[in-house]
Amino acid sequence: MTALASIRNLTVTYRREGAEVAALRHISFDVAAGERLAIIGESGSGKSTLALAIAGLLPATAKIGGAIEWQMTEFRSSHAKDRQSFLVLNSLPLRGRDIGFVFQDPSASLDPVMPIGKQIAEVARTHLGLDWRHAYARAKILLERVRLPDPDAALRAFPHQLSGGQKQRVAIAAAIAAGPKLLIADEATSALDTIVQAEIVGLIRRLVSEDGMTLLFISHDIGLAAELAERIAVFRHGELLELGATAQVISAPRHAYTRALLDANLGLDAEPLLQRT
Ligand code: ADP
Ligand code: MG
Repeated sequence: MTALASIRNLTVTYRREGAEVAALRHISFDVAAGERLAIIGESGSGKSTLALAIAGLLPATAKIGGAIEWQMTEFRSSHAKDRQSFLVLNSLPLRGRDIGFVFQDPSASLDPVMPIGKQIAEVARTHLGLDWRHAYARAKILLERVRLPDPDAALRAFPHQLSGGQKQRVAIAAAIAAGPKLLIADEATSALDTIVQAEIVGLIRRLVSEDGMTLLFISHDIGLAAELAERIAVFRHGELLELGATAQVISAPRHAYTRALLDANLGLDAEPLLQRT
């Protein structure tokens, strides 16, 4: 197992009204390259803090201890046209290029007054150095890939003209527009109704597989996590309680808390979930 990122003794504390809130305590685990890993736990368990720490998006009020080590060594062409000229990068990942982020509320990540085609093209321009024409061509392909009906019309549409599920499809298109290695979906389906939720989970699964991305799927819903992830990490009160293969975590959880989450989700029967994995 090659690690894409190794989280080493990560501790995050927020300063709030003079007090310190410990959001993550001494977290260590590896994110394997190409895996689908779910981070689950109830609200306030530290899931978003972990996602933001990994993406380098924590607010200035956060105090961070420990380290996140990246294995991003690769060859990248330094000029799109010059395939002979390669640059060796062994540096921190670039948010937007190497890490795509999908949030719970697509309206918050989309600009309400900019056509969605331009928003997606902008990502491709910024991170891939494409000119507008090529960036728009890429945006159209992305809208096709996320299965938006009539991609040509969708390029010119504004976010308010789309349904919640369609907006999340656009947010996903923008998140993968620069071809990131890691896709982080933080409660990306939590605001959607059950049928749309299942469609978006299916979409994420397909895109991750087509592009060979690593997925960090963050959810309070262990059932949803089990549908998508190969491994599940269970968080509570900023601590990593257990991390294991999905089948193992749901059929033989090590921690009573995981058992309780499963019971709440499934009744007492883990069989239906196991059959889906
Ligand atoms: P989750 O995503 O699992 O709901 P969070 O990472 O959002 O959990 O929150 C973990 C803890 O950190 C909670 O106690 C929350 O109140 C606190 N917290 C999160 N963000 C901030 C912030 N910006 N300032 C202060 N406290 C925060
Ligand atoms: Mg959260």
